[in-house]
Amino acid sequence: MSAVRSHQSPPQYRGRIAPSPTGFLHLGHARTFWTAQQRASTQGGTLLLRNEDLDRARCKPEFVSAMLEDLRWFGFQWHEGPDCGGPFAPYNQSQRLELYRAAFEALQSKGFIYPCKCSRQDIRRALQAPHAEDDEPIYPGTCRLAEAAAATREPKAVPTAAQPAQNWRFRVSDGEMIAFEDGHFGPQQFIAGKDFGDFVVWRSEGLPAYELAVVVDDAAMKISEVVRGADLLTSTARQLLLYRALGLMPPQFYHCPLMLDKSGKRLAKRHDALSLRTLRAEGKTPVEIRGYWRV
Ligand code: GLU
Repeated sequence: MSAVRSHQSPPQYRGRIAPSPTGFLHLGHARTFWTAQQRASTQGGTLLLRNEDLDRARCKPEFVSAMLEDLRWFGFQWHEGPDCGGPFAPYNQSQRLELYRAAFEALQSKGFIYPCKCSRQDIRRALQAPHAEDDEPIYPGTCRLAEAAAATREPKAVPTAAQPAQNWRFRVSDGEMIAFEDGHFGPQQFIAGKDFGDFVVWRSEGLPAYELAVVVDDAAMKISEVVRGADLLTSTARQLLLYRALGLMPPQFYHCPLMLDKSGKRLAKRHDALSLRTLRAEGKTPVEIRGYWRV
């Protein structure tokens, strides 16, 4: 009996760079994005640019144009994006609200989320990726407990139309282990309720939190590998719960070591001296800059 050979080709590599236009790009972004570009190109894949402009208070049009200019100057080339279109357009998150709302409604109808009336920092910050020191504190569960108490008092309401005009949190199963294999750091494990708690997925002004938007987009845009900074490892664990709840296939993950400043802090947009703009104005070339990190 002869073996049946599969002629199926492996799925095509699709990567992304996903900056938020809240300031000028700096060396840390460039390094992570360069890794994303290299991984896509060595695998003959596609790289897309997604403009993560959900935070209306902090994202500014001048930062979007600066972002595109700085990325091009540095040598980034993307195949799909807000400037050149592509099969999964639009590539500006601010134009994809219907998709996020549909995911919110799916989570709501399946009972994965609950309304939260607390006015906490983590709700205010949820539009942005929670980089390192900004990561949300473990939610003490005030509204989760209130919801459970109400459910025992009142007959269960038949779900009606979604009411996103409140904040909503995803309920984690305390003690559940979320494990994944990271392409750079190897096996990873997080415990729900210990390493992170119930997290915000929707904000009362009608906007999805970063965690939900990024899952919806990475799935819809058929991203096969997410390359991002190591400070988002915990977010990846949260996002895996969203993929599962939404019945979506998660991509592979590759987290990059972070660039630190002299005092050991993660480079951020506040380090203006290390912005690509400033380095360029000082006469540095992209080749020289890449020499700093010897990729
Ligand atoms: N827009 C997010 C950021 O700039 C993207 C994070 C991610 O790669 O998922 O931090």
